[in-house]
Amino acid sequence: MKRIPLLAVLSLATGHAAVAPTPPPATPPPAVVTFASQATQPSGSQAPGDQYVMFGANPQPGDKEGGTAAMNLVKLKDFSVTAPLAGAGRVIPADLKSPDSVKVIAPGGGVVTTGILWSRGKKAANGYADVASFRITNPAASSFSVWVLDSTLKVKGNGNTGLALRVNGGEPLAPCATVKTDSANEFTQFTVTGASLTDDFTVTVRGESDEAFLALAGLTFAVLPTPATAGKKSPVVEQKGWLDLNKNGSKDVYEDPAQPLAKRVDNLLKQMTQQEKIGQLNQLVLGDRKSDAALFPLMRRGEVSSYIWTTIAPALRNQFQRVAVYESRLGIPLIYGMDMIHGTNTLFPIALGLSCAFEPELLERAQAVSAREARAEGVDWVFAPMCDLARDPRWGRVAETCGEDPYLSALCNAAQVRGFQGANPAAPDRVAACLKHYVGYSAVTGGRDYNDSEITEWTLRNAHLPSFHAAVKAGALTVMSSFNTIGGIPAVANHHALTEILRDEWKFNGFVVSDWESVKEMIKWGYAKDKADCARLALNAGNDMDMKAESYVPNLAAELQAGRVTAATLDEAVRRVLRVKFQVGLFDRPYVDEAGCNPALKVPADLALARECVAKSTVLLKNSGVLPLAKETQKVALIGPLGDEHREMLGCWGGRCSWSVPTLATALKAALPAETTLTVVKGCALNTVPTTKTLQDGRIVPDPGAPGTDADFKLEEAVQAAKDAEVVIMAVGEPNGWSGENASRAFLNLTGNQQILFDAVAATGKPIVTIVFSGRPLVLPTIWEKSAAVLYAWKPGSEAGNGLADLLVGTMAPSARLSMSVPRDVAQVPMFYNHYNTGRPRSGQYRDLKDMDAKFWFGYGLTYTTFAYGPVTITPATKGKPATATVTVTNTGKRDGEEVPQLYIRQLVCHEGARPMQELRGFKRVKLQPAEKTEVSFELTGEALGYVDRQGKPRADAGAYEIWIAPSAQQGTPVPFEFAP
Ligand code: BGC
Repeated sequence: MKRIPLLAVLSLATGHAAVAPTPPPATPPPAVVTFASQATQPSGSQAPGDQYVMFGANPQPGDKEGGTAAMNLVKLKDFSVTAPLAGAGRVIPADLKSPDSVKVIAPGGGVVTTGILWSRGKKAANGYADVASFRITNPAASSFSVWVLDSTLKVKGNGNTGLALRVNGGEPLAPCATVKTDSANEFTQFTVTGASLTDDFTVTVRGESDEAFLALAGLTFAVLPTPATAGKKSPVVEQKGWLDLNKNGSKDVYEDPAQPLAKRVDNLLKQMTQQEKIGQLNQLVLGDRKSDAALFPLMRRGEVSSYIWTTIAPALRNQFQRVAVYESRLGIPLIYGMDMIHGTNTLFPIALGLSCAFEPELLERAQAVSAREARAEGVDWVFAPMCDLARDPRWGRVAETCGEDPYLSALCNAAQVRGFQGANPAAPDRVAACLKHYVGYSAVTGGRDYNDSEITEWTLRNAHLPSFHAAVKAGALTVMSSFNTIGGIPAVANHHALTEILRDEWKFNGFVVSDWESVKEMIKWGYAKDKADCARLALNAGNDMDMKAESYVPNLAAELQAGRVTAATLDEAVRRVLRVKFQVGLFDRPYVDEAGCNPALKVPADLALARECVAKSTVLLKNSGVLPLAKETQKVALIGPLGDEHREMLGCWGGRCSWSVPTLATALKAALPAETTLTVVKGCALNTVPTTKTLQDGRIVPDPGAPGTDADFKLEEAVQAAKDAEVVIMAVGEPNGWSGENASRAFLNLTGNQQILFDAVAATGKPIVTIVFSGRPLVLPTIWEKSAAVLYAWKPGSEAGNGLADLLVGTMAPSARLSMSVPRDVAQVPMFYNHYNTGRPRSGQYRDLKDMDAKFWFGYGLTYTTFAYGPVTITPATKGKPATATVTVTNTGKRDGEEVPQLYIRQLVCHEGARPMQELRGFKRVKLQPAEKTEVSFELTGEALGYVDRQGKPRADAGAYEIWIAPSAQQGTPVPFEFAP
């Protein structure tokens, strides 16, 4: 075998890798030795099977230990091979037949043997083909050599090749030696200095000319510290049952899992410098590989506490975590946060939809799935649930809320917190929750995102805060402050909300993170002068962590120095952050199991839950009797842009889902009897594409004056399909991106040409079942009027197709109730059922809008059967027992079904402040067979009747109330009730 020792040096010290050809190494090439048994170990802690590389002699593979005195043994545990097989190509086995011969000897170590890899080279001068990649896992091994011990290179279509090393996806570092086709390349050495844990190294085969080529490479290579750095110990952080995070060789209180939380936090806090403390309040973004490398110095100095985790790469997460743990002085782990709002991979209906189930436990189950999936991907902390109250459907973020009612929203959000955090947020399938956006974000003027809010203390206490308070009581570990101002004060600097209410009144002891850059946005609001001003205002108000604005780290030291921020304030904020990190288990288990992450894995039980959620959150708004579809139906047409669509029903924040979900068309086809024909016609696009114009300077910009284009607009085809069918299902709505963040709307209609499509299909006179997919209530008068049935599906997530097919064919029956009222006209908004009576209830209406009622009020929703409610009877309180209100509910239809009786109350006189004309204070779900009846009772306790006074105290006044139990907010007959606490 020809042996050609080659050496190239890569210096990463400056961040720019460089290679210089260097003379052949003075030391002979290394050899790999595997110790077979304990007895043959030379010394120390070597274990059987460990692999070593020997320097300084000329040993041969298979040599025993002991060799020459100069021999230097290096244990190969400091490297992890991330992509042992060629990334670009497929594997051709060594014998060109059996794939089994492709073998990684030491996947967690440093020696790799590949079979023969096939890789297509780039068609470029000095093209190349990658064959194997690795990273270091021991920061002490930042200088190392890559020794190619044995190789077989064959190149087709490009005569001359050689091996080279690429760093972080860059071009192969030139010059590199080339060897002739068919030649061996043994003992090629590349030397790397200044490597970091997150650098990716790739052994690559180079082609010489600019032709495409096919490389076949079989490699055995070792990656090991150079003799100069060999023997430099990695700090031994991992101890039995604890982590020596500050690397001092002894178990500090904060490192001891057996110590109480408060003691661990205090012990750590005492060891921290001021700058390390400030660093714990800093959150940055990770996942954009271009700028990642710049983060290492900050992390080593302890200036990063948390990352917004935008990617799915547990190995990368662990690499960064290792830098924090190994390379920062105190080894404080990072906490990774991300937005999992209605699922991670398995996507559930948006929260607005889920809350329509009127079944908080369903949200708890859904978020438990999301927590498990999120943690597997490397997320410890989700920015959910959203506790904002949805009163204005123009605001795009109503999609993320649990609707307009404080009581329902409180129950749903507390349930979500339980789902995310479970009994122990440190468990490997749970995450910390984050209540957002605190507070008043949903009351933005005109429903325009990021705007100002004007909220009185009375409304704040009784409408906007109850949901946050309930979720805090459920144990939520963190809260996010919001973008808006209230009465001119940005929420991120609102001392009243963040400190007086959240901490002093509610005793919340988790931490508050700002929203994205909102700390520095105070400058644009005109509330703060510069970033130093921002940092001081936010921290002093009670905003502990700065998301992405980078205002705290550069400025707080000077603010402390000047006495504008006290050391006690800083300590308190840091204590809160550390406490949560301990609570989610990061000090004891900083890494995630890389092998445990499989975003593509579909768990049947999770899909079944998602499917159940679709059926339970889709609201049946109208049904002439056409649903469920009769089994005898021969011809069904599915028309509309959402009928055969995979992604537009996932909802905002649905981007994490890594699989293609079944469409309604596919699911319906499977659900319909085999004899039924299903014709699927798109009819038009979900939206038109804006026409563009070219400016004088050559820029192409949208032309708002010109009509948009719609290549899918085919009315005739749709009309023909409708004519040929017995029943038409129309799948219409608004695009995904039209709800969620920064997606306010002025008009609440169907987008693009969908209304024209609907009108043309409706003109055929065929019965239409319309399914509306939307992130908010839309105003669709002709849909309500001309459809034979309407299912309001919201954005239903991964199992949209299956769940809706279940409802259409009747294997599931609808039971959902609107958690947000559907207006008749956008001119009515903001509108919500729990408004005041006013002094002139019948006057004050718009001259030009006759009907001031909503089209469908909160709580409304049909089933496939009917229910009758008897009169409400009140049983007076007895000693120790509250009064109760009871109603008898009977299934008067022909199918079994689930009904949601709702308790509404009204306090007739309240001196603290007028109360709404009705408020939901209880609901139940009852399942009844045809003709079956049941009694439904609610206790009329102070809690059920009360409110929060202007000082934040819960109160229930003695006096006159009205009580009723009804199927929705617009039904039921109030009965008088006198409350005596
Ligand atoms: C949103 C938050 C989100 C954050 C982080 C912000 O723009 O308002 O809801 O949690 O970004 O992604």
